[in-house]
Amino acid sequence: MNQKDVFLFLIVCFFGSLSISAQNVDNTHDGFLHCGTDQQLHKVFAEHPELKAEFELNQTRAEEQDAIDFRNGYQPINSTEKIGNSSQMTPPTYIIPIVFHVIHDYGTENISDAQILDQVRILNTDYRRLNADTISISSTFLGIATDAKIEFHLANIDPNGNCTNGIDRIFSSETYIGDDDSKLNYWPRNKYLNVWVVKSIGNGAAGYAYLPGTAPSASKDGIIIVSTYIGSIGTGNPQTSRALTHEVGHFLNLTHVWGLSNNPGITCGNDGVTDTPVTKGWVTCPAFNASHICNANIEENIQNYMEYSYCTKMFSTGQRTRMYSALGSNLGQRNQLSTVTNWAATGVNNNPPNTCAPTADFLPSDKVFICVGGSVTFDDISWKGHPTSWSWSFPGGTPSTSNDSIPVIVYNTAGVYAVTLTASNSSGSNTLSRTALVKVSSTTAQYSAAQYFEGLESAAVFTNDWTVVNAQGNGWTRVTTAAATGTASVKLTNTESMLGTVDEMVSPSINIDLISNPVFTFKLAFRQRTATDNDRLRVYVSTNCGLSWSQRYSKLGATLSTGAATTSSNFVPGAAEWRTETVSISNVLNSTNVRIKFTFESEGGNNIYIDNINISGPTGINVPDAGIQHFDVYPNPIQEQSIVTFSLEHSQKVNLQLFDMTGRVIAEIFSGTLSEGAHQFPVQGNNFLLSGMYFVKLTTSEGRSATQKLLVN
Ligand SMILES: [Zn+2]
Ligand SMILES: [Zn+2]
Repeated sequence: MNQKDVFLFLIVCFFGSLSISAQNVDNTHDGFLHCGTDQQLHKVFAEHPELKAEFELNQTRAEEQDAIDFRNGYQPINSTEKIGNSSQMTPPTYIIPIVFHVIHDYGTENISDAQILDQVRILNTDYRRLNADTISISSTFLGIATDAKIEFHLANIDPNGNCTNGIDRIFSSETYIGDDDSKLNYWPRNKYLNVWVVKSIGNGAAGYAYLPGTAPSASKDGIIIVSTYIGSIGTGNPQTSRALTHEVGHFLNLTHVWGLSNNPGITCGNDGVTDTPVTKGWVTCPAFNASHICNANIEENIQNYMEYSYCTKMFSTGQRTRMYSALGSNLGQRNQLSTVTNWAATGVNNNPPNTCAPTADFLPSDKVFICVGGSVTFDDISWKGHPTSWSWSFPGGTPSTSNDSIPVIVYNTAGVYAVTLTASNSSGSNTLSRTALVKVSSTTAQYSAAQYFEGLESAAVFTNDWTVVNAQGNGWTRVTTAAATGTASVKLTNTESMLGTVDEMVSPSINIDLISNPVFTFKLAFRQRTATDNDRLRVYVSTNCGLSWSQRYSKLGATLSTGAATTSSNFVPGAAEWRTETVSISNVLNSTNVRIKFTFESEGGNNIYIDNINISGPTGINVPDAGIQHFDVYPNPIQEQSIVTFSLEHSQKVNLQLFDMTGRVIAEIFSGTLSEGAHQFPVQGNNFLLSGMYFVKLTTSEGRSATQKLLVN
């Protein structure tokens, strides 16, 4: 934002805050619609100058046509393709078949059919001027707030001639950064309006659309929109539920009311539609008499659907005429959408629609790691047609088959098991199998020794004893291209295309109880790609076979990085780029069955490597005062952090402090009552302490004490 923009932004905010106490308040929310359409167009035009030239020519033609249409009083075009409608409402002039492609990773972005149906209802309400809030349209514009007579009907026949309910679901990590690459399973644009629903779009945009003739290719034409902007129910909400009304306006050749050259609030602009006044655009909803910004005596159409504010509720008659022109033009093949032939081809006249056979799909409860004797709940999420019967197969489970829609299955034998669902209704059936889905562990730990050490040198051990959970993209892999010691480590190949993905790696079960004063360390190597990447590594422990996890370590971005510089090329660590990480496991010191989980959340940074996963007692045992045993600090000298370990002969109050050379208390590490047995506490390291010698001192209520030197380099 330059100075001028800041100033203009403040003007908008000023009027925005005025509206709270003024009359005609539409909306006191401070949010507004972030539409990515103009940004996307400028990006495409930079790559395809020929599209820009054609677009500008078409916009000039549309503006000239608008001037003629305006002189003629914006008479609606009489379509010969009206269809009969038994309701009292006048029939629509245009019916556009629509399909929603929900791109999902089994998260909340996999929105329900009901939420999409609610969105279609809102779209048709807005384009037929059936919205209840027309009552609060400014009197200046009430006369031109038009019934656009355009309807959107979910497709009932897909491009292959098969049954559909107009809702398509695709499992893909493309949901995390919604862009043209996320436009999977495109249906021909001359038959359908494609709407892709994703979890998020870069820059916080709610969505974007291509105006006719501006898509870089036919298969990218249509609208992409964030799932929380769909409908007013479920993960949607009423305030933001008109984002698609706005984006469809773009699809039908409407620009923002101030044009498409910049964000709202910057310069007075024109949309090539005569009956919508020149404006800078609005992100707030001031009183109508406070909206005369560009011309002193001309009220601006702040409630237009092509504004950014959340008080929009109308299209103008001029905008309708411009949309009709788009639907009559072969630009972007829009003129083929609303024809008798296409209504038949896409089944939008089917009333009631056919019942489609289901496409089988299901979700386990999070509990895919369980101990022997544990249970897993499976949710049917089949789509396209509602199943009326379910046939499940659960090898290794009890029961091993089920006909419930939400079966609960107990697993009594250790192993890794597949699950199969056949979902059926009167129109047919469909089967989905997911292999290696349920991991059932023995309650007896696989590793029981005085030390646990995994240097990843054995390929068989990593394959057989570790579990890699990789939903999409690259997963944790054993490599011999880098190692802290020996020749092998585990690596996650992390690139910009991994953004948003989560990768897990789970250890075999370990008996920690046999390890005296255990300290958990591992070797890490990681680089950022750019200084703003915030990739995160977390480490968790579980004492119930992975059913639940507690987080013990979390680092991100520059703190996670083990090298000073960022690197855009493929990161392979040198010997000096490995760092020892220490993880406090004070919560599981006496557990006989512990699993460790490494979770990496990618923000598109560079590769990460892990090696030498080690749980062992301190090397040099200090013999302190009676009543306190095994008092030690490790690693020493301190790195990112050290762990203080000790055992108490019996429960008592203790005080654990960090002193500097002068005897000054630097940190109160712990003060309180501890139980008998082993304990450990982290000491934050070299980011917090100046170089030098420090002392960690434990004193007990029995008057005992123990002291250890701690070096900071
Ligand atoms: Zn827009
Ligand atoms: Zn205008």
